[in-house]
Amino acid sequence: MTKVTTGTLPQLTLSRNAVDFIHDRDLEDLLKPRPPDAGRVHAVIDRSLAKEALTVEETAVLLRADDPESVALIFDAARRLKREVYGNRIVLFAPLYIGNDCVNDCVYCAFKRSNREVVRRTLDEEEIRRQVQALEDKGHKRLILVFGEHPRYSAEHIARCVRTVYTTRHGNGEIRRLNINAAPMDVEGFRRVHEAGIGTYQVFQETYHHETYGRYHPANTRKGNYLYRLDALSRAQEAGIDDVGLGVLFGLYDWRFEILGLVTHARHLQQRFGVGPHTISFPRLRPASGVAVEQKYFVSDHDFKRLIAILRLAVPYTGLILTARENADVRRTVMEFGVSQIDAGTRIEIGGYTEAGDAQCMEREQFQIGDIRSLDEVMRELLVDGYLPSFCTACYRLGRTGEHFMEFAIPGFIKRFCTPNGLTTLMEYLTDYASPETKAAGRRLIEQELAAMPEGAAKAELADRLRRIEQNAEHDLYF
Ligand code: SAM
Ligand code: SF4
Repeated sequence: MTKVTTGTLPQLTLSRNAVDFIHDRDLEDLLKPRPPDAGRVHAVIDRSLAKEALTVEETAVLLRADDPESVALIFDAARRLKREVYGNRIVLFAPLYIGNDCVNDCVYCAFKRSNREVVRRTLDEEEIRRQVQALEDKGHKRLILVFGEHPRYSAEHIARCVRTVYTTRHGNGEIRRLNINAAPMDVEGFRRVHEAGIGTYQVFQETYHHETYGRYHPANTRKGNYLYRLDALSRAQEAGIDDVGLGVLFGLYDWRFEILGLVTHARHLQQRFGVGPHTISFPRLRPASGVAVEQKYFVSDHDFKRLIAILRLAVPYTGLILTARENADVRRTVMEFGVSQIDAGTRIEIGGYTEAGDAQCMEREQFQIGDIRSLDEVMRELLVDGYLPSFCTACYRLGRTGEHFMEFAIPGFIKRFCTPNGLTTLMEYLTDYASPETKAAGRRLIEQELAAMPEGAAKAELADRLRRIEQNAEHDLYF
């Protein structure tokens, strides 16, 4: 195993044969040529519509294609691919912030150690249970736990929090899949949290551009080590976590470069472990307490749409996560270009699910979010727009993860598994938690989906399960 020395910090252990596979100059060079002609853009889009992951060079072709006709083609193709690979499902989750102590000093984040304005707090076991109950009472089944980076948030601590969440049940509520967004660990640490039964482990590179990374993450901090962070998900894979999530914080550097970084990273994982990332997140920088960031690289709404559409085409089988950092209008507009997961009913103040009022409190949160609508409101809008909101967790619970998930993510799989499971979890939500308006919209969608299915044993079985759930006789029926 390779060790890297970090000045006054402890030695950090990398994965086997870890290398820095991001070559800034090569990526910059791919973005330099003149815009491609229409034929080249069509050829790349055709590969993507055949559900081939794009190479970094092909992705750069789409990034350079910025004339209105090419951009319209890219949007259309992304819409089509999303429908074909994911159907009309949108998976819902909520973040649960556990603690905001942090030894790092990331310029953009309110939790940075130099910020004296922020109120520091870490939830204890009882407080975690209260937050989880409040989330279950709203209908959530999937959460992501979020941590600052601090010695007190060790792998054992995170594993304990995971167990606390899974064992907290309220009414018909339970958390069936728990993902993690926390600082990188060594292989042994990742193994511990894996054993606790986590779903996806997310670590965002923030920026793939080395010089920019150095400017935003001071060298005398743990996060200041670019390679240790870049290598994190390889260590997670070595520890047996085969659902990993990549991300970039858009607004720190040129968004087109960052997309090439994400695609390079995704392909690296695919080549090394036979499985690409499960998800990619693309947060845009938000205002935060004690934070002032230069605006040079802020991403406009138009470019935000482009980046989502191009990501959709570049990595057809990777889930794309859109968070409540964005406001309701932006979320509604960009959803169709390839998003497969969103959070809803989100509060990111520590303890916010039981303690927060209607307004956000900047001193208690990592950044300001743009969408604080309730889960029920978001569900209703999705239903009215023709989406199928899903709380499905079947694949993960049946071991259909990592490489196996890739095998399953093929045409036919959605019809056999994802749509039926989306519908049963929606019926659970409607029966146990929905407002009358959302219930009505949900029933209409369920009827439409059933009507669109071919007659046969599968449809009869699904209809029967939906009936049993609606009568509150049974729960958690999945295919
Ligand atoms: N502390 C861990 C880490 O840095 O990996 C956990 C993640 S942090 C709590 C979650 C993510 O929030 C960061 O990776 C970063 O991308 C994002 N973030 C931080 N400050 C932000 C801001 N001002 N606006 C939007 N997203 C921000
Ligand atoms: Fe700490 Fe993460 Fe915020 Fe950086 S982004 S200051 S590591 S919580």
